[in-house]
Amino acid sequence: MSIEICNITKYFDSFKALSDINLKINTGELVALLGPSGSGKTTLLRIIAGLETADEGSIIFDGEDTTQKSIQDRRVGFVFQHYALFKHMTVFDNIAFGLRVRPAKLRPSKEEIKQKVHELLALVKMEEMANRYPSQLSGGQRQRIALARALAVEPKVLLLDEPFGALDAKVRKELRRWLRKLHDKYPITSVFVTHDQEEALDVADRIVILNQGKIEQIGTPEEVYDNPANPFVYNFLGNVN
Ligand code: ADP
Repeated sequence: MSIEICNITKYFDSFKALSDINLKINTGELVALLGPSGSGKTTLLRIIAGLETADEGSIIFDGEDTTQKSIQDRRVGFVFQHYALFKHMTVFDNIAFGLRVRPAKLRPSKEEIKQKVHELLALVKMEEMANRYPSQLSGGQRQRIALARALAVEPKVLLLDEPFGALDAKVRKELRRWLRKLHDKYPITSVFVTHDQEEALDVADRIVILNQGKIEQIGTPEEVYDNPANPFVYNFLGNVN
């Protein structure tokens, strides 16, 4: 699924959080939205998801205007920074949730749900954890479950908001390599928000740098690293291992 972001502008009261954003994301691409805090990354991600409406502009999925569609109708999977798992539900039930709330006609049978959840648990390497509760998992494990839950609805687009932001450095590094591998195997069009330039350089096919609600640069990690448009916002040199 390709995504076209056309002339998106967003105000919060009189504050302009996003200013005429234009961007095309190709099918199967893994794109990082990188920028300092307050630059509009999360707002743009939420507008792509249909969790937030823009004041101007449109979001096009595969040539079709989806601006008025809900997150369910957009077939979008969303991963939040703080996992947002249901605390009172087991890992199994958390992953099954998106399948169980489908309209009756589209809802898989109990057996199909069981099979699907076990496939997803294997995919995120958490086969043994089906009966645990989120409180019994580490941060990294919780985020894997959140990803499995997002994938359960077979999204056409995967959106991740600072997915590793709450984790410690070692787990963060591990998980971002793992996300890259997973994406190579299952290339769902994906956009992730980060303020960590090393993470963007490590994981993304392309990096979009936002600053004060505007796109400052779009390029491959190599292009952005070799030739940063605004070294005052992102001084890449000397910041990467
Ligand atoms: P980032 O993800 O880059 O940190 P955000 O998209 O969260 O940036 O926010 C961009 C700007 O919009 C910030 O100045 C933030 O304070 C403001 N903002 C975000 N959400 C709201 C909201 N619901 N109400 C008012 N202002 C908001």
